[in-house]
Amino acid sequence: MRLPHVCFPLRLLLYTGPVMSCLFCRIIDGTIPSNKVFDDGKCFAFADIDPQAPVHILIVPREHIGSIAAAGDEHAALMGHLLWIAAEIAREKNLDKGYRVVINSGPDAGQTVDHLHVHLLGGRSLSWPPG
Ligand code: 5GP
Ligand code: ZN
Repeated sequence: MRLPHVCFPLRLLLYTGPVMSCLFCRIIDGTIPSNKVFDDGKCFAFADIDPQAPVHILIVPREHIGSIAAAGDEHAALMGHLLWIAAEIAREKNLDKGYRVVINSGPDAGQTVDHLHVHLLGGRSLSWPPG
């Protein structure tokens, strides 16, 4: 997220607020490095730091949305875009034998980063059901 040029106290407030303390917002704005796979005006995709499969990519919206459960009506097209980009990346990575797209939402699903993200997993046979 690009911050506007504002006076120091306001800047400090913005930098320490919920969005700037979000790990994935900081990856998107480049403050934290990542291995970028794809980037457009709406989303950003990068390699997971702890891959659970030979291909493990996270696709995140540029806008900070806490989870899919927190997405509103106005985000419906963006949700579709994230899935479309996951399929495009899977094609680009030649995951012809299949792949899995996962969105964890909330504590019961084991969501650990509170910025909506789509996992793209592939390159090996994946068991079902998940734990
Ligand atoms: P969740 O458990 O919330 O569905 O997924 C969060 C994912 O983010 C995990 O797969 C975890 O490995 C990944 N992750 C956590 N911190 C970092 C990081 O600093 N960089 C990258 N690239 N991935 C991260
Ligand atoms: Zn965020």
